[in-house]
Amino acid sequence: MRFEYDFLIIGAGVAGMSYALKVAREKKGKVCIICKTSLDEANTSFAQGGVASVTNLKVDNFDKHIEDTMIAGDYISDRKAVEQVVRNAPAQIEELVKWGVNFDRNADGSFDLHREGGHSEFRILHHADDTGAEIQRGLMAAVRACPDIIVKENHFAVEIITQHHLGARVTRRTPYIYCYGAYVLNPDTQKVDTYLSKVTLMCTGGCGAVYQTTTNPVIATGDGEAMVYRAKGTVQDMEFVQFHPTALYSPGETHPAFLITEAMRGYGGILRLPNGESFMEKYDERLSLAPRDIVARAIDKEMKTYGIDHVCLDVTHKDAAETRHHFPNIYQKCLSLGIDITTDYIPVRPAAHYMCGGIKVDLNGCSSIERLYAIGECSCTGLHGGNRLASNSLIEAVVYAEAAARHSLEHVDLYDYNEKVPDWNDEGTMTNEEQVLITQSVKEVGEIMSNYVGIVRSDLRLHRAWNRLDMLYEETENLFKRVRATRDICELRNMINVGYLITRFALERKESRGLHFTIDYPVHAYDKQSQ
Ligand SMILES: Cc1cc2nc3c(=O)[nH]c(=O)nc-3n(C[C@H](O)[C@H](O)[C@H](O)COP(=O)(O)OP(=O)(O)OC[C@H]3O[C@@H](n4cnc5c(N)ncnc54)[C@H](O)[C@@H]3O)c2cc1C
Repeated sequence: MRFEYDFLIIGAGVAGMSYALKVAREKKGKVCIICKTSLDEANTSFAQGGVASVTNLKVDNFDKHIEDTMIAGDYISDRKAVEQVVRNAPAQIEELVKWGVNFDRNADGSFDLHREGGHSEFRILHHADDTGAEIQRGLMAAVRACPDIIVKENHFAVEIITQHHLGARVTRRTPYIYCYGAYVLNPDTQKVDTYLSKVTLMCTGGCGAVYQTTTNPVIATGDGEAMVYRAKGTVQDMEFVQFHPTALYSPGETHPAFLITEAMRGYGGILRLPNGESFMEKYDERLSLAPRDIVARAIDKEMKTYGIDHVCLDVTHKDAAETRHHFPNIYQKCLSLGIDITTDYIPVRPAAHYMCGGIKVDLNGCSSIERLYAIGECSCTGLHGGNRLASNSLIEAVVYAEAAARHSLEHVDLYDYNEKVPDWNDEGTMTNEEQVLITQSVKEVGEIMSNYVGIVRSDLRLHRAWNRLDMLYEETENLFKRVRATRDICELRNMINVGYLITRFALERKESRGLHFTIDYPVHAYDKQSQ
């Protein structure tokens, strides 16, 4: 089947739905959002901590938020992107509130603000400890109430369409690559349909699922980055994978591993060994409030030193009623595992959490491929640089949704549907009879990435990962040519592509910087120059 939409949006998290609402209200064409499972299953729904924005002007200001972001990013963030996000954040918070998203407020109506690691001020807006679920709920209600947005759940984007599909030779040096839409797997027919678009937005979220343990849901397989890379688009900063230091340690719960929010350390939580000894004083003067990468590496070191599976987060010294009030979900989740956080330590360990890199975009969210925008976690705006400051990603998504919406609304009338695009060709393919060929390879990707491309890296481990991923790549591409496209095999291909990109970028960075730490180059390139 063939479909035509002026705005084709691949992904329905905070990024995709914000953009959809913004373009739909201008009534400049048909808007369609596709998402690969149900509308509520997105990284966005899992966010707990909150959204960073300068709203308390009595003590806070844009310069402080900009500086905190630059410090966290190890000074390789793009300052223009940082300024764009920080300065436009308050207006986008207002927009979220207008769409029906609730943030906790004080008795005087002002926002109840939290402070998180790396922030010099209290500036995190939140909704108890389930801010992402509230944002997803509010946006889903607004999208469903909007008659101008078509939502297609369980529709999987397989590839973006470029002139390559019309027979042209496309390489990384081709000056103008055009996106004409996407090939999308139809859940009813199990056939791949052709979606032609004037403008396509990639907002497929994160890629934590390429690791063995992640706070991301299973859908976070990096499909957007992989599709764009295969289409010869530009990706960048893929070596900067953020590991959240404190995922709840509960064997068997790995995709997602339940997150113990950063806000809990901001609230006064202390990291300890299981025997009660605190250890952050050995690593950073900010102790448990040090930035995530430092805390994650410290925990990794302690776990390796003592051969333990987890460390602990302690809030037993805090007022029990206050703890239950601030962290109702964490309290309940831990209680369901027999842990009363008001009297017991919480067992925690690091887990893959956030991808700072992704599809390279400019300040308008334009990718290197014409007519293709990318926003949200799959994009790389330059905001995060070497490391993301806590709670800066949800706000980045809405600020760039605004920029991309404005830019695409100005340009959409310049484009036509490309009717010459051929339909997906699955002639000669057959049904895959051996699911184990896929499930086993997915497991292998997780093991390779966690063991060789994790928190602490070395050239030896990275080369080993590269070689093993290469073998999986060959096997999977051969399988993909023989069998009908299914979500499983497409996700596996994407995970291998993303694993390869993380490994390659990690090998290319000959220094330890931001989230990328390698024992072979333990110092910054600029530190080396000054030695
Ligand atoms: C546990 C957790 C806690 C977090 N806490 C915070 C926080 O406190 N503050 C903060 O700022 N950030 C936080 N983050 C990060 C933040 O939630 C994400 O970066 C953000 O929600 C990403 O939004 P998105 O719209 O880009 O992607 P997502 O919300 O992940 O949405 C991706 C969408 O793309 C769709 N999709 C993917 N691939 C395909 C495909 N091939 N075809 C069709 N559809 C596809 C999915 O179905 C989904 O609808 C947290 C993340 C996690 C996992």
